Amino acid sequence: MRIALLTSFFTFAFAMLFLALVQNYAQAGDTSLPTLVQTQPKAPVRIVAFVDTSVRESTADYSVLPNFWFQHSSPEFDFDTDTSFQKYLNSDHPFDDSTYTPTDLLPIDSNFTANNSKAFKLRAEAGTQFADMARHFRNAFSGDRLYISSAYRSSGLQWYLIKQWCAMIKCAAIGTSEHQAWLAVDIKVITKWGRWYSLDAAYPNKYSDRLKANAAEYGFHNTYQKGIEVDGKIIEWRHRRYLWTELAKILADNNQTFAEYYNTINN
Ligand SMILES: [Zn+2]
Repeated sequence: MRIALLTSFFTFAFAMLFLALVQNYAQAGDTSLPTLVQTQPKAPVRIVAFVDTSVRESTADYSVLPNFWFQHSSPEFDFDTDTSFQKYLNSDHPFDDSTYTPTDLLPIDSNFTANNSKAFKLRAEAGTQFADMARHFRNAFSGDRLYISSAYRSSGLQWYLIKQWCAMIKCAAIGTSEHQAWLAVDIKVITKWGRWYSLDAAYPNKYSDRLKANAAEYGFHNTYQKGIEVDGKIIEWRHRRYLWTELAKILADNNQTFAEYYNTINN
């Protein structure tokens, strides 16, 4: 009797085990085909207003030239309209609309900055030019790269900064910041070995030299470099503002700041 019971128990156990194995096999058969997930690499996004490499002359000192640049047919500078790339900003000449925000903002799309450029927004044209400048900078120095420490400050953040720790001369008053125009970046340099360089002219280096000679090619200008008496704000070596290549080159060629140029033509 016991043997019969044991036999039927083991028979039952083996039957269940067999069923389980069959079921497992059947399920394995169902999922044996691998699911192919096709992922397309994301195409880089480029915004190019004008591409015309035929009129570009090479410069002697810098053989690496931009692949493209923004060329503005019959450039007329507009220092007054809020949306203008040459909007002149200081405490006597603020935005007409103190809450002005441009409509063409994009994250800076560069793979060649030391930090994540996409965390910072500029107006599309300025960002594209900055990305091109960053790429050539990194190529010129075999991997030493620009580091963006700041791009846009909203007027709300600007208020906060002023209240917290900024003197009015250091952080632009509300409605007078080139950062609020979404046309300015604050930058420094980090080498491929991890060493930091500021762009302070008191400690000139090959990086500040290159930007001094080269940033205008991309439309960027160091707005605050001659002191508060000249520029209306204290010197800010890290600051670069996009003004169009045409105007930035005039300033560089004449060793003028934006404020000097503006005051010359308005007096
Ligand atoms: Zn700045």
